[in-house]
Amino acid sequence: MPIDLRSDTVTRPTPAMLQAMMQAKVGDDVFGEDPSVNHLEAMAARLFGMEAALYCPSGTMSNQIAIKCHTQPGDEVICERQAHVYIYEGGGIAFNSGSQVRALEGDRGRIRAEQVSAAINPDDVHKARTSLVCLENTSNRGGGSCYDLGEISKIRKVCTDNHLKLHLDGARLFNALVAGEQDPVVYGGLFDSISVCLNKGLGCPIGSILIGPAAFIRQARRVRKVFGGGMRQGGFMAAAGVYALEHHIERLAEDHAHAARIRQALEKKGFVKGIMPVETNIIIFEVEEPYCAKSIANELKEAGVLAIAISTNQLRFVTHLDISQEMVEQVIKVIESL
Ligand SMILES: *Cc1c(COP(=O)(O)O)cnc(C)c1O
Repeated sequence: MPIDLRSDTVTRPTPAMLQAMMQAKVGDDVFGEDPSVNHLEAMAARLFGMEAALYCPSGTMSNQIAIKCHTQPGDEVICERQAHVYIYEGGGIAFNSGSQVRALEGDRGRIRAEQVSAAINPDDVHKARTSLVCLENTSNRGGGSCYDLGEISKIRKVCTDNHLKLHLDGARLFNALVAGEQDPVVYGGLFDSISVCLNKGLGCPIGSILIGPAAFIRQARRVRKVFGGGMRQGGFMAAAGVYALEHHIERLAEDHAHAARIRQALEKKGFVKGIMPVETNIIIFEVEEPYCAKSIANELKEAGVLAIAISTNQLRFVTHLDISQEMVEQVIKVIESL
């Protein structure tokens, strides 16, 4: 079995998580009768100090439901130019919401309040109506970078002053919370909606939760049905989510420590041109010519380590629940041998 560092989405449920899934009490969630889904949603809402939550099949669906609820066709959404909602969701903002994107050049995926402020369109018939700002924390293409809370507060103020909604793509928010020792309730107080993936570092097979005010979640539930995301006995999967929120948050620190160790091994290698600062569980590095990302990925693969070439000259490793300390030692040996 190769050591799979392509993504933190590749994890399999642990025996204890599977046990929780097998023992789940279930019902029809479209009727609102699945106790495990209801429990997961209540738990997530409470964790962030928000009123309600909605269990969704994927992070993409959570984000797209939120964007649909916060916009009208012809609106403009502000986000960073490498934001997942913009470049990795199949054109969903245009397809699902009929809105367009104002993409800003950020610093490792993060934008600043002044940039947001300058990108808001004036009330002019020529211009699209700016209605929503989407942030991503941690930033995937930013190499798992974390937002500064002070900057988010400034962006919140710009949004409030200009009647814009503020959504957080928090696919890996728990990585940021653990790395920064931050309180989820603070995030609940800053955003109009938050999506959090259960299928990444938290180790669930599928699932994401969208969190927000009760009226917003009521509307989101309707949109989820329209998107085909109304699940029946979803409780078997939701039970994995409950288990993950109870047992898999604190341990993300191990993934971060593993990523830091892999970074150290890469630093000494001639084929590595530059490594993005490693703040959480993602390591993105640039490959020195004449090598290219694909050729290094192939060499790694032959040595039993899987990574992803995210551009012609950039490779990505992601640490996760199924990567043990022994595997990290092995990865380091392989890197040293290249
Ligand atoms: C993975 C990811 C998503 C989407 O999650 P899926 O469950 O794969 O649809 C959204 N945003 C970011 C930043 C991600 O990394």
